Amino acid sequence: MKEDAIRTTCPYCGVGCGVLATSGNDGVRIKGDPDHPANFGRLCSKGTALGETLGFEGRLLHPEVRGERASWDDALTLVADTFKQIIAENGPDSVGFYLSGQMLTEDYYVANKLMKGFIGTANVDTNSRLCMASTVVGHKRAFGADIVPGCYEDLELADLVILVGSNMAWCHPVLFQRLQAAKAERPHMKIVLIDPRRTKTAEMADLHLAIAPDGDVALFNGLLQNLADQGQLDQDYIDRHTNNFDKALAAAKMSTATLCTKTDLSIDQLSRFYQLFAESKKVVTCFSQGVNQSSEGTNKVNAIINCHLATGRIGKPGAGPFSLTGQPNAMGGREVGGLATMLAAHMEIGNELHRGLVQRFWQSPHIAAAQGMKAVDMFDALAKGKIKAIWVMGTNPVVSMPAANKVADALANCPFVVVSDILADTETARFAQVKLPALGWGEKDGTVTNSERCISRQRAFLPAPGRARPDWWQMAEVAKRMGYDAAFEYQSARDIFAEHAALSAFQNEGERDFDIGAFADISDVDYDELQPTQWPRRKGQKAVSQRFFAGGHFFTPDGRANFVATPATPETQATVPSTLRLNTGRVRDHWHTMTRTGKSAALSAHIAEPFCEVSPEQASKIGVRPAELVEITTEGHSVLARAILNPHLSDDQIFVPMHWNGNFSSNGRINALVCDQTDPFSGQPALKGAQVKLRSA
Ligand code: SF4
Repeated sequence: MKEDAIRTTCPYCGVGCGVLATSGNDGVRIKGDPDHPANFGRLCSKGTALGETLGFEGRLLHPEVRGERASWDDALTLVADTFKQIIAENGPDSVGFYLSGQMLTEDYYVANKLMKGFIGTANVDTNSRLCMASTVVGHKRAFGADIVPGCYEDLELADLVILVGSNMAWCHPVLFQRLQAAKAERPHMKIVLIDPRRTKTAEMADLHLAIAPDGDVALFNGLLQNLADQGQLDQDYIDRHTNNFDKALAAAKMSTATLCTKTDLSIDQLSRFYQLFAESKKVVTCFSQGVNQSSEGTNKVNAIINCHLATGRIGKPGAGPFSLTGQPNAMGGREVGGLATMLAAHMEIGNELHRGLVQRFWQSPHIAAAQGMKAVDMFDALAKGKIKAIWVMGTNPVVSMPAANKVADALANCPFVVVSDILADTETARFAQVKLPALGWGEKDGTVTNSERCISRQRAFLPAPGRARPDWWQMAEVAKRMGYDAAFEYQSARDIFAEHAALSAFQNEGERDFDIGAFADISDVDYDELQPTQWPRRKGQKAVSQRFFAGGHFFTPDGRANFVATPATPETQATVPSTLRLNTGRVRDHWHTMTRTGKSAALSAHIAEPFCEVSPEQASKIGVRPAELVEITTEGHSVLARAILNPHLSDDQIFVPMHWNGNFSSNGRINALVCDQTDPFSGQPALKGAQVKLRSA
């Protein structure tokens, strides 16, 4: 056992905190890394309890084929041969990969290269589709590229921080701690929370706007209109650096009465918020899943960005729109093209020049010619028999996808399901013909990228258990067995990182935004010692600005940012009679479907079972008292939870956490109740938009 502390990165949220891990005879001791620029030594409860989640209980330790232990060679050969046969008979679009924002950038890179460059389809999507896809499209529409303009320090420098659809106190706790510390130091800093629900985050807010669900586009359109009416626009910035302002302003116009109806806010509340924005030169607007997980998530993102562009509040210290990523490596996945709608290194599948460039670099026989299937479409295609083989890695879609029962049926219907996971028995793994044991946190090596574009190392400090191997190795071995030996001869995660860096710099004269070419020749030693680094980091450059767009130059063809017209939908929410709006989200001490945090007694002590927040009026209507059980239902599925009365919740809403699954609650899986409606631009599911019925259980 190693006794020296190993510098690594927390595997949970997108804050990406640095961790010091020491393994010894008494287990693994965890501390915050004082030198990591995301957390400067801080950790939240989940990060602190990492050592308690590393046991071997439930681990998948050997490859399995149809429930029987198999050798790696037999399992990998079966995967390669079956994929080859299905592709030969049905074409490349008949197979798919479904990945995870928990995977390391190197794993993502190999998956994309194999699928898009060698198999020849872009059917490689990820649970990041459930998390960030609307922000990706919103960024591209406005900036010409998927760029987060700012950095964490901006939150500390701002005079006004707006949190939209974000329970930062529980979902990005260390960033919240930084914000709390900044507010204590600079008491004039104001914080506005925009959330239908009063959360822990509201306790720090100077103003909480309990907005109507999906009222965000109207709210920010109203802000744009108000800024124009009050003469608060930065007309010089608009004229010199942007396009389409007039169209966006025209689309934003609505009467005050309509604005109040759509947002469910009073004129006083709206005026106070709009005045705060107008009088604060340094404004950061952070947005998270309340924005993204919506059928109009992309328009919400652009409505927010419009207000920052209209006032020139972008690219400057303490000013800008700021997307808070959910997962630890959603950003790293995006950088290597880890979505069915992207190519690699932020290049476009639809761009012939980009396709040619990537194919030349990979020297690949194919290159995906069109976008692949997004997550919801991919499982639909499985159900319809169009996809006949799927490889699921590091995620549990039977719990986490919307319409989760449909996903289970689709997997049951699929002729060939491969699952790579650290656990032997997940709801998804039960459908697998082949199960491949993956390495977990503390066992694997690679990089992740956090919400402020900072690349950090995850380092191994524990031996690989049983026969478990890295995800990238599993895919490279399958690729070789499919006949693509030369392109997948990786010996280590370093080899892949260096290739990824070389691709980002390949024939790139500075016109593409993502470039970490400085690492193309990185040695084993330098990779081992890689310090947290923000991208871009071009060849020959030692350090670059932490912020993009400081000079008002964007990555569009004409270098100008685009305002996007974001008309508010005719109805705020189509309400089905006698139903309630189901809002879902995280609790402080659990992560995703609890496959890791569920192992920690300390974490489970915070909230031990699924609950349903309901207004006192609604509880009395259905005859339920505090702590009694309620049944939440849609057609064909129901979930039991304990009632918690929340006097700040409106009568037509309830909130249920998304974590509990069949292993932790006999009747969990709240996402089985959520329909699979998606945003039309991003394909991101509206996970907070279900209509359900509630009754006493
Ligand atoms: Fe881990 Fe996020 Fe907590 Fe940091 S804030 S310790 S990254 S869960």
